[in-house]
Amino acid sequence: MLDHLSFSQWKAWAACPTAAHAQYVQRAYKPAATEAMAIGKLVELALVGKDFEDLEAGDQALLMTKKGPCVAAQRAVEWGRKAAAMPDVATALQGTEMQAELRPVLGGVPWVCRLDVWDRAGGCVWDVKTTASPLDETWVPRLETRGNFIAALGYGYQLAIYAEAVRQATGDWPGVGIIAIGKHTTRAGEAIPDVWLFDWTDADQLVGYRNALAASCTGPWTCDLGAVLPPIPELYKSPAAGLPRCEQCDWCVANRENRIRQYADPRRTRA
Ligand SMILES: [Zn+2]
Repeated sequence: MLDHLSFSQWKAWAACPTAAHAQYVQRAYKPAATEAMAIGKLVELALVGKDFEDLEAGDQALLMTKKGPCVAAQRAVEWGRKAAAMPDVATALQGTEMQAELRPVLGGVPWVCRLDVWDRAGGCVWDVKTTASPLDETWVPRLETRGNFIAALGYGYQLAIYAEAVRQATGDWPGVGIIAIGKHTTRAGEAIPDVWLFDWTDADQLVGYRNALAASCTGPWTCDLGAVLPPIPELYKSPAAGLPRCEQCDWCVANRENRIRQYADPRRTRA
């Protein structure tokens, strides 16, 4: 049963409808967390002043040794605190509410949004992300150009739903942005946090992303695989067969429908 949507769920449907159906409808699949993901979460929590105890049990288990949190987990906490003390970050965190939960309604469906950092008085929301290199760019098929991790992972959609959540709760559009914590290794071999604040500048894009999220609840929408999908509430009722597959995720690889491909070497299409 669909009782609410979240950005992470929407992202799962957009990335691989077959795996999302297995995860959320059939409840036959749960993507495994990795140690790197658990460490990322711990860095995010430490940045907003939380600690190891605030990690979910599954993530805790990944970072636990017989003697307590592993060395990497202890370093993650130290790292998050170091990042929080950096001048621009400290300013952004000042007087803010951490991990507030808002429940906006979009396309008639309740959504759950957990805001990492919310400055209610200043009207500003920050989401915290860990990434290898905040400024590195790769080709982003969705935008048909190069972009950083925010573009590549579609985090603009997340900021759009968070902005909408605050608008529904307070009546005002907040400013939104991402605090990115990257990793830099010094010449001496020491890993230090490389922190950037990405303040989102294009309000029209956010409105467009919000409308795209609403469309995924009420009408056909386009997923990251380029396929046009029925609204998510309808996907909940539909059978898994025939849904687009990414053929790259754990679920798709473990559950191949057929292993035969038609093949010839590709021909150059551009001169
Ligand atoms: Zn897949």
